[in-house]
Amino acid sequence: MSLQLYNSLTNQMETFESLEPGVVRMYSCGPTVYDFAHIGNFRSFLFGDLLRRTLELFDYQVHHVMNITDVGHMVEGETDKMSEAANRMKVNKKSGRVPEGAVEDPNDPYQIADYYTNAFLEDARKLGYKIASEYPENVPKATDHIEGMQGMIKRLIERDHAYVAEDGVVYFSVESFPKYGELSGNTLEKLQSGAGGRVSDENQSRKRHPADFMLWKPDQHHVMKWDSPWGVGYPGWHIECSVMASELLGRDVIDIHTGGEDLIFPHHECEIAQSCGASGAESFARYWIHARFLMVEGEKMSKSKGNFFTARDVFNGDATGSEVHPAVLRYELIKSHYRANMNFTKKGLEDSSGVVKRMLDFEARLEQETGGQAAEVDLSHPVLSKFAAALSSDLNISEALAVVIPWLRQEHRDPRESLAVWRAVNSVLGITDITEESAGGDPIFDQVQQWGEEMKEARSRKDWDASDAARQKIIDAGYEVQMVKDGGVVITKSLA
Ligand SMILES: [Zn+2]
Repeated sequence: MSLQLYNSLTNQMETFESLEPGVVRMYSCGPTVYDFAHIGNFRSFLFGDLLRRTLELFDYQVHHVMNITDVGHMVEGETDKMSEAANRMKVNKKSGRVPEGAVEDPNDPYQIADYYTNAFLEDARKLGYKIASEYPENVPKATDHIEGMQGMIKRLIERDHAYVAEDGVVYFSVESFPKYGELSGNTLEKLQSGAGGRVSDENQSRKRHPADFMLWKPDQHHVMKWDSPWGVGYPGWHIECSVMASELLGRDVIDIHTGGEDLIFPHHECEIAQSCGASGAESFARYWIHARFLMVEGEKMSKSKGNFFTARDVFNGDATGSEVHPAVLRYELIKSHYRANMNFTKKGLEDSSGVVKRMLDFEARLEQETGGQAAEVDLSHPVLSKFAAALSSDLNISEALAVVIPWLRQEHRDPRESLAVWRAVNSVLGITDITEESAGGDPIFDQVQQWGEEMKEARSRKDWDASDAARQKIIDAGYEVQMVKDGGVVITKSLA
């Protein structure tokens, strides 16, 4: 089956072909770890996850890499991210979001970055973001790759793509790279006049072109700094992705690069310029795939509007007034097409909760009926082939779900075959493997399982009172119980 993807580089739908048959090398821009990741961040990350899982369904071996941006003061002209982070840390501590004692010194950027890296990984695992379980192998931190960044900057200077300005700052020269602007549609003329928007005014006079961007900034006094041939200082933001992509994926040219649409300019444009400039290759990533924004109840998410939600605000009920199971948030975030703006709503979450519950019940019942023994199926199976065909059309998730959801309700005469189909579907959706355990552990779950055993045992000796008593304890603990044939008991977490 051929996979069609919308490539932002060419602005058209293309048939995906990997450089090496059967293998996909894919890079996703990761989180900046100066605060908790919000649901808009996770929308972008989970779209990358859906793409990766779809490629795996199509039998590609996917080598996926995502960075952690833990270097401070990353973009020239913007306020110092580190002092901003320290202020936010104080706010988060005060509100109890960051527990007392979790971060000793709220002014220490390494402690801040460490804390939020762990928080991110925890949230990402709860949401079934596959790559989070590949930390640290495929999830590198920028601060561990400073040497590589300096190596690439040296190469760029040697190849006349970068220069040291009179104040000692190293800049990339956009005029040395004629393709600059190809991804975003910006032209150097537009950028010259500032129409491209984000060109900073700071240091303008020292740059050869206003759009030239920083690779290394000497700064003795900065809180995160490293030795370099250009003085003690710190790297620009864009260079980290170019370096980590090629170092960890082992290629100058990779297959796929993903990110949110807000990263197209300047970040991804600059990544292309650096990577191609340093390697001399014609391209950096062959397919650029971008996810659109997330809105909340039809409005742009913003702190001032009070509709700015982190993933954990949603889990713990701060966002909507009631706790949300991570599988429900995952479903909510992946269920709309990545090239449509996503509208996060309370109503949507309720709908998602219903679907997720049906999926959990469906799987639990089939597992019970088959003893976990699935048949063998492949993508030619009528349900799977429709599901895969929908995904192959630029990840048309709504169409894919429209195949699966009605199928769950049908009669399943061959549970072993249905289980196999479901497992393939769920390998992409990643819903039912978000168990309490993978979601961070549920101390009462072991106890609940034990009551389930008691209930089974009581039923086998027809002690209905004991069975009812055990059942009631399970329900009181927030779980649901179903009795299935052969005396089995299926317990699922109540999502209501
Ligand atoms: Zn990046």
